[in-house]
Amino acid sequence: MRKPTGLERLYVDFDSFFASAEQHLQPHLRGRPVGVIPVDSEHTGLIAVSREAKALGLKRGTFVRDARRQCPGLVLVTARHELYVRLHKEIIRAIETVVPVKAVCSIDEMLCALLPTEWPRAFDIGRQVKEAVATGIGPTLTCSVGLGPNDLLAKIAAEMEKPDGLAALRPDDLPGRLLSLDLTDIPGIARGNAARLARAGITDMEALWRLQPKELRRLWGSVEGERLWMWLHGFTVERPETQRRMFGHGRVLPADWRSLNGAYAAARVLLAKAASRMRRAGFSARSLALWLTDRNSAGWCGEERFRPTWDDPSLLASLSRLFLHAEREEMHRSRSVHVALHDLVPLSEIEEDLFDHTPEAQLKRRMEYLSTIADRLNITHRKTLLHWGPWVTIPGGYAGAKIAFNRIPDAEDF
Ligand SMILES: [Mg+2]
Repeated sequence: MRKPTGLERLYVDFDSFFASAEQHLQPHLRGRPVGVIPVDSEHTGLIAVSREAKALGLKRGTFVRDARRQCPGLVLVTARHELYVRLHKEIIRAIETVVPVKAVCSIDEMLCALLPTEWPRAFDIGRQVKEAVATGIGPTLTCSVGLGPNDLLAKIAAEMEKPDGLAALRPDDLPGRLLSLDLTDIPGIARGNAARLARAGITDMEALWRLQPKELRRLWGSVEGERLWMWLHGFTVERPETQRRMFGHGRVLPADWRSLNGAYAAARVLLAKAASRMRRAGFSARSLALWLTDRNSAGWCGEERFRPTWDDPSLLASLSRLFLHAEREEMHRSRSVHVALHDLVPLSEIEEDLFDHTPEAQLKRRMEYLSTIADRLNITHRKTLLHWGPWVTIPGGYAGAKIAFNRIPDAEDF
């Protein structure tokens, strides 16, 4: 842990990305209110709205029929994620004419690390990045750039002057503009955590700022609370390498799949796909996370931790336990579902206890063996021949229904 003194991080976040991407790709949409929908249906919500639509009060998440009523001239476009992924790659090339991209955080968010010689002219570099995107891609696809002493503060700074912004949170005047934000503006403070903070009397940034790291850890119920404190106060915290990678899949669900049962059926398929990709890459996971969202894109999130695991039956059993928790906590509907395998361990590093002859260990080894056989068959035949339990075809199987927010799909995923 260390406390940087310069603007070491530059964060790029594109404005209304899917909507501006469509305006970039289809020039006749420029200057018009545009909404992007995940599937061609009247029963879905907008996943992005153009700045013209935002100016008319339209928000992400609004249902199609409400959106049409609210904004009569609205043009609806079904998402074309394969084109957005191509655009994403062009964007990275444009940014890298100025500064290398250190991490791709989502389809429209990138993090760059600046060198000590670059810290004093971080603002100039931010301007150059914006110019490189404008000349390399076009003027329609604008981005907001944030500068800060660490990843989180740079990301928060990128949110502060949207759209087309350029802002910094300087290490020497913290908390500074942080105090004017709402708690839920901070990445990592979702509604659940905000409610927990409110119960402890923490309702604004000033109160959060006064807490001690251990207090935030206790309120969070995990070390993540302490980590958040460190980030906000301008420290950098290095995460262990294995925590950086994950395998996950997500979907916006069609209207008739939004019961908890529908979300569960979809999540099983998504988890099986993620687990198969993870095995192919040579990893096992120590944690499984599940996110369910309501129409405001808030929602329920749960995680289960275990010893390194990579077989389908064990992972699917963990998923079913997470759904039981969600049900117990009154999450009965979900507009999207996302699963992710975290905290990866290379398969080569797992020490197998060959002398463990308990029935459980033997069963687990058999399940692992079967999982690899299923993978091999499914890959050879290029479809899902073998699977565990009921298998469903998620409507909108076309790539348009994929969420590209949190994971940049590989070409083979389309
Ligand atoms: Mg964005």
